[in-house]
Amino acid sequence: MIKFKCKRCKATIKAPDSTVGKNVQCPSCGMKHVVPRQPPKVKKPIPPVVWVAVGLILFVMAAWAVWPSSGSSADANAEEDKGPKEEIPDFDAEHEKRMERERFEIDRDVEDRSRYARDAVEKRRKEAIEMQKQRELLERKQREAYEAEQREKERRNKRPDPDKNRYE
Ligand SMILES: [Zn+2]
Repeated sequence: MIKFKCKRCKATIKAPDSTVGKNVQCPSCGMKHVVPRQPPKVKKPIPPVVWVAVGLILFVMAAWAVWPSSGSSADANAEEDKGPKEEIPDFDAEHEKRMERERFEIDRDVEDRSRYARDAVEKRRKEAIEMQKQRELLERKQREAYEAEQREKERRNKRPDPDKNRYE
C-alpha cells in the first residue's frame, strides 16, 4: 500500500502498490494524482528548541573541558581527559621549584663553606706570622741579653777590681 498526500487538500490518499504510475482520485476533493513509486517522505522539521538545547549542551561541555579548575560532578570522560593534563604540569612545576630551591641552598652552603675555609686559612696564616714575630722578638732579646752579658764580661776583664766589688 502506498500513502501520499493530496496536493490540494492535504488529505491522505491510499493506493495499492499495483497502481503505481496510474491515475487515482483524491477521495476527499476529487483531484487526480499519479500514484508515486514511493510515498513522499514527510520530514518532521526539528523544532528550534531542540537545536537550542543541543547548542547549549555542546557549549557547556566545551566550557567544562576548557575550564581550568576541576568541578565536583562532571562528565566522567571530561574528568579523565582533564586530570593528567593539569596535574602532571602542576607536579612538574612544583618539583622544578623545589629543585631550584635546593640548588640555591647548596650553592649558598658551598659558598659559606668556602668562605669559612678561606677565613680559617687566613686566620691561621696570620697566627703563624704573629708567632714568627714573637719568636724573632724573643731571639733578638736573648741575643741582646747575651751580647750585653758578653760586653759586661769584657768590661769586667778590663777593669776587674771595681766591677768585682760592685757585683759581688
Ligand atoms: Zn484532495
